[in-house]
Amino acid sequence: MNKKIKNLFPFFKNNPEKVYFDSAASTLKLSTVIEAERDFLTTNGANPHVTDYEKGFEALEKLNYVRSLVRNMINAYKTEEVIFTSGTTQSINTLANGIAEFIKKDDEILLTELEHSSNMMPWINLVKNNGAKIKKISLADDFTIDISDLKNQINKNTKIITISHVTNTLGTKNDIATIVKVVKNINPEIIIHVDCAQSIAHEVIDVQNLGVDFISFSTHKIYSSFGLGVLWGKYDLLDKLKPFLFGGGMNLKIDSDFNYKLKTLPDKLEGGTPNIQAIYGFEQAIKFINEIKLKNIISHETSLKKYFVQKVNEKKLNCKIDFYNLNNNSPIILFNVKGVNPQDITTFLDKKYNILARGGANCARRINGVIGVEIAVRISFAIYNTFEEVDILIEALSNSEDFLSTII
Ligand code: PMP
Repeated sequence: MNKKIKNLFPFFKNNPEKVYFDSAASTLKLSTVIEAERDFLTTNGANPHVTDYEKGFEALEKLNYVRSLVRNMINAYKTEEVIFTSGTTQSINTLANGIAEFIKKDDEILLTELEHSSNMMPWINLVKNNGAKIKKISLADDFTIDISDLKNQINKNTKIITISHVTNTLGTKNDIATIVKVVKNINPEIIIHVDCAQSIAHEVIDVQNLGVDFISFSTHKIYSSFGLGVLWGKYDLLDKLKPFLFGGGMNLKIDSDFNYKLKTLPDKLEGGTPNIQAIYGFEQAIKFINEIKLKNIISHETSLKKYFVQKVNEKKLNCKIDFYNLNNNSPIILFNVKGVNPQDITTFLDKKYNILARGGANCARRINGVIGVEIAVRISFAIYNTFEEVDILIEALSNSEDFLSTII
C-alpha cells in the first residue's frame, strides 16, 4: 500500500532517497493537488470575484463548491460558516480581532502552555491594551487538559477558551467533546475555539459532535498547498465578528459620506481576492481523504508509532535519549539526545541519513513550562511513511553520538 501511496506524492519521485518526517510542519503535496492548481492556472486564471464572463464565474462556482466540501468534511451546520483564510494564523487573528470589541477589562481568556504561537500571539495582542487577562489551564500527567483545573479556572469573567485539538509538540489529543460539555454546563456563553491545525489530517473533526463554537486549520497540513486555511464558526457568532480584512469583495456599497455596507457571510470576512488556485487543489486533497478514509490514515500512523516505540525499547535508546511522548498514539515523537543541541541532531539526521526532521522550539514558546526544556527534536509521521523509514530513524538514533561528524 505504501509504494502506491508514495507514488501519489511527486516529492518522492524527485527525492527518492529522502525520508520525510516533518509532516507536522507541512505535509507533502499530492500530485492531484498540484495538477488541479496547474490546470486552473493554465486554462483559466480568472479572478473569482469577476463574474462578467464564464471563466470568472467558473472560478466562483469552484470556490463555493469547495466551501460546501469543507462543510461536509467538518459537518458544519451551514456552508456560509466556512471562511477561507490564508491559514490557521490568519483564521485565529480573524477571530481574535473580530471578537476584540466584546472583550473588556478583567475578562479572561483561557489557554494552555502547549499552544502554538499562532494560538497565543493573537490573544496576547488582544489583551495588551484592554485590561483583559490570559490565564493558563494546567495539564494532567499525560499533558492533556486537566479538566478539574479547567473547572476551577472558570469564573464570571471567563470569555474565551482557545485550545489545540492536538498539540504540535507532544501530539497530545484533548477530549474536546468532554471539555465543551464541562464548560457549557458552567456557562454556555463562554466561546470555545479549537486550533485544529494538527488534527485536520489525523482525526475526524465533526464540529456538531464536538459542540465547539469556532475551529481553524491550514490546508498545507493536509496534503495541499500553502496560503489557504479555514475559520469555521457557528453562524450567529461568526456573524458578530468585526471583519479583520477590509477591502474588495466584502462590501456592498460605500456612500458619498464613506459609510459602507457589508455583504453577508461568508463574504464579509473574506476581504480581497482569495487563493483560488489553492482552493482548486484542496478539492483534490478532500477527495483523497474521502477515498482513503481517515480511519485508515490514523491506523497506519498509529502502527508506525507503536513500531517505533517497540524498537526504542529493544535498542534501549532511552538510555541516551530523553523521549517526552512515547506513551501516546499521536504520529508525533518529541525527544532530545542527552547533552546535544536538537539542531545538531536535525543536521545529523539530514546530512547523514536523509531524514528531514524539525528541531528547536517548534513554535511552542512556553513548552519549557510543561516538559522543562525549551527546545527538542520533532519527528512526525504521515500516510506516506513506511516501517523501513522508521528503521532508518532507529539506526540513525542508535548512532547519534556520530552527530559531531556532520557539524565539524
Ligand atoms: N497551530 C498549530 C497547532 C500548528 O501546528 C500550526 C502550524 N505549525 C499553526 C497553528 C499555524 O499554522 P499556519 O502557520 O499554517 O498558519
